[in-house]
Amino acid sequence: MENAAAAVHRPVPRLLAVAKTQPATAVAALLDDWRRLDPDARPALGENYVQEAAEKRRALPGDDIEWHLIGHLQSNKAREAAELFDWVQTVDRAKLVAALARHRPAERAPLDVLIQVNIDNEASKHGCAPADIDALSDAVAAESRLRLRGLMAIPAPTSDPERQRASFRRMNAHFLALQARHPGVDTLSMGMSGDYPQAIAEGATMVRIGSALFGARAARP
Ligand SMILES: *Cc1c(COP(=O)(O)O)cnc(C)c1O
Repeated sequence: MENAAAAVHRPVPRLLAVAKTQPATAVAALLDDWRRLDPDARPALGENYVQEAAEKRRALPGDDIEWHLIGHLQSNKAREAAELFDWVQTVDRAKLVAALARHRPAERAPLDVLIQVNIDNEASKHGCAPADIDALSDAVAAESRLRLRGLMAIPAPTSDPERQRASFRRMNAHFLALQARHPGVDTLSMGMSGDYPQAIAEGATMVRIGSALFGARAARP
């Protein structure tokens, strides 16, 4: 990440370690390394499933870990997600905004929220259309129990690096427009193990890395 950022004269983004399917022992080992390398860091862990995150959170106690939901969230799991996570990166519809706000416990800080954008307009993908970002971001910003932090995207897989960079570039344009509308916005979450240098070159402030940290994932049973 440091090399990729230095090569394009961009700031080093935040690292989100994607822990899905990894056993708690592997995550604990990574956290030990992380704290040794950067004693001031608050490690950020990404999980795709509410249930798996709840189990891992019980196995990895400690308030210094920041838990991020990066998988699709069904409305009937909104209460559990609002109680469990520090961030939800996959908000893509107004119904979810209202449910998360209603269920965020009063004693917790407001829930940090990213709006997921379906940047390549894929039929199979979750995320809002780029045209819906303004309305959805206004809805998040209007909720006192939520804090609008920015945008998240998973571009369509492609072997064409130029097409991929173009998707990241369009996301950065949406991010800058959102910052103009909501000055508190500071996070553009994009880039994974296979494409994070391109994402950093196009302005990612947070990259979500799984297999490059933990090794290849086993298939989900
Ligand atoms: C699994 C996943 C990642 C990490 O993918 P890797 O290729 O293993 O780095 C990042 N973001 C999301 C939304 C994911 O589901």
